[in-house]
Amino acid sequence: MNADKLKAAIRDVPDFPKPGIIFKDITPILNDPKLFRLAIDILADRHKNQNVNRIAAIDARGFLFAGAMCDRMKIGLVPIRKKGKLPWRTYEQSHDLEYGSATLTIHQDAFKPGDRVALVDDLLATGGTAAASAKLIEQAGGTVVGIAFLVELAFLKGREKLAGYDVFAPVVF
Ligand code: AMP
Repeated sequence: MNADKLKAAIRDVPDFPKPGIIFKDITPILNDPKLFRLAIDILADRHKNQNVNRIAAIDARGFLFAGAMCDRMKIGLVPIRKKGKLPWRTYEQSHDLEYGSATLTIHQDAFKPGDRVALVDDLLATGGTAAASAKLIEQAGGTVVGIAFLVELAFLKGREKLAGYDVFAPVVF
């Protein structure tokens, strides 16, 4: 399967950014044009028949995939950013992380009524980040049609926090 090529390229970095965390480094995929394109093919293909008209992308590695997907899909991008980074009026949501906690924000005027949104990030760990992001999309008036990650750490059971959403991840550890 094609996703196996992506899986093989992901590098494990033990004890980053904290002891006990095995960081899944996706930069080798970005660094290889064939693999990067394959990742975008798989992620964009997922949303082909879902009538999605916006991608909401999670700070910061989500931006890398979402930007390329939006170009491919000819749709707009809405950034979900760490608190203090977005310049206009925002909604905010706080959540726990596999390591630490964080507050995410979205522009209040990011969506128009009826916008069908795919949420994109590089990796699903505990699911807190994506759950908070989905809430932000809904708060700003968008409908979450699907949530796509390149990688899922299934043992952390992040999908449980995303119950009710259509969750996709081609690479599973
Ligand atoms: P979570 O809220 O626990 O699902 O964490 C997801 C966010 O943290 C994503 O934006 C990931 O990029 C990042 N993340 C969490 N754990 C890892 C990990 N083990 N390797 C790489 N990124 C991670």
